[in-house]
Amino acid sequence: MKVHWKILIWLVAGALVGSLFQLMLEATPTSNIVVQNQDGGGVVVSKVTSGGVKLTPGQIIVGLVLDRGTPDEKKISINSTETYGATILQAANGDVVWHQLFGGGIQPVTLSIDSSSPRVKWIRPFSFAADMFLRLLKMLIVPIILTSIISGVVGVGSGRDLRRLGTKTFIYYISTSLLAIVTGLVLINAVQPGTDAKLGLSYDDRFSDVAETSFFDVFLRMIPSNIFESFGDNINMLQVIFFALLFGYSILHVKSDYQQNMKQFFEAAFEVMMKLAGFVLSLIPYGVFCLLVKVIGLTGFEVFKPLGIYMITVVAALFIHSVVTLPLLLKFFGKISPIRWFKAMSPALITAYSTSSSSMTLPVTMEVVEKRGKVSNRIVSFVQPLGATINMDGTALYECVGVIFLAQYYSSITPDVALTFGSQILVVFMALMASIGAAGIPSAGLIMMVTILSALNLPVEGAALLLAVDRPLDMLRTMTNVWSDTCGAAIIARSEGEDGPLHAGGDESPVAPDTA
Ligand code: ASP
Repeated sequence: MKVHWKILIWLVAGALVGSLFQLMLEATPTSNIVVQNQDGGGVVVSKVTSGGVKLTPGQIIVGLVLDRGTPDEKKISINSTETYGATILQAANGDVVWHQLFGGGIQPVTLSIDSSSPRVKWIRPFSFAADMFLRLLKMLIVPIILTSIISGVVGVGSGRDLRRLGTKTFIYYISTSLLAIVTGLVLINAVQPGTDAKLGLSYDDRFSDVAETSFFDVFLRMIPSNIFESFGDNINMLQVIFFALLFGYSILHVKSDYQQNMKQFFEAAFEVMMKLAGFVLSLIPYGVFCLLVKVIGLTGFEVFKPLGIYMITVVAALFIHSVVTLPLLLKFFGKISPIRWFKAMSPALITAYSTSSSSMTLPVTMEVVEKRGKVSNRIVSFVQPLGATINMDGTALYECVGVIFLAQYYSSITPDVALTFGSQILVVFMALMASIGAAGIPSAGLIMMVTILSALNLPVEGAALLLAVDRPLDMLRTMTNVWSDTCGAAIIARSEGEDGPLHAGGDESPVAPDTA
């Protein structure tokens, strides 16, 4: 069975089991939970912690400590909310509205939580399995980035001709990826699907410095002072990427037998990592199942509305980039009719759509660009393999939209996350790096999103939720990735003085490979 069908089936199964838990297991004794307005001294507490315990919808609040004034002042412990006639409403987004009878004023409230509700207990094994899956994903990040970038750079080689081509290709990759990211950024800020969304994710209290990060800090922090420290957590990915680029570049400048050894080593290591990733990614359907049980079991179906709007935003941005931006570049810089080029490239695009993998599509892409597009083999064999791993406009756009969506959500449930201009610039930069570092395999973009979230100090749980709806978006973004690679080949060929692209009605060549 094709992977996307399998994922869909497990997704529906997870939603069904989750709703069953919703219907059958009462999580909270609703009798003493009353909605109150804020008259009479009620306050809205948006940051809820209790000795590091996360407050998740579905848990029962059994005790309450009111901190009046400075932390050292007398604290009143309340074992039953009814004792003081206090009423609590736990809103679905994790906010707590607290209405109390001791005078007015805003006061911090610490809640103690009972996690023994039957629903929480039933859901725990699923949430455990979902966490295991997440950890497996995180395990892949550093070795995949390291091996894919080093082997990629070494594969490019040095030499004058290659250097000129390399510079052009690089400029094309960076500028189209940035254009894609900006399209995504504008749309996600206009639509704001994450703000006040009911995703049922909690924000465990951590020190986020996103708000204070300036643009220059990003550059400074890209340079590792101890590379093993950068490998040690999944936060300093830019440092890992920076090191990998330099390391790969240096390999190209040592004695040729050393060079050969290193090249072979990193190519082999990359192959091994792809195998390992293949194994982890084959668990996606089950990961999605456990996650859906957890999310739907705790919050119900409300989660689907913002997710739906998020998906539409991604699709709309991908559409604009593929149908407006890239064709304009093709027309002006490549002097090629976008429609003819699109028709000629269709076998590669269909393969990309059905495999969700630029790497798997690579043989088809090379074939169609050369045979149907009439681009010289010299350009094709340089630009296409590199593009399949480095140039991912769709992925870059998706990273940006996904991360901002989650950041919108987190910033609406906690004041600790602020989506400032500076942090958005950081996301743009990280999205670009992530798209360079992502391997051309299904769901690689999602692995990289975990990286960005960690770097921004946001809970990676959010990426796991997006996983549930990742596959259809992956198919479309892979198509965009491959489409941009082919446009790049045409534009670069034209800039090298080739008059080949599409000449002699290249789009009529009968290349129709089987679409895996
Ligand atoms: N599947 C994409 C590709 O192979 C990468 C991604 O997950 O965004 O191009």
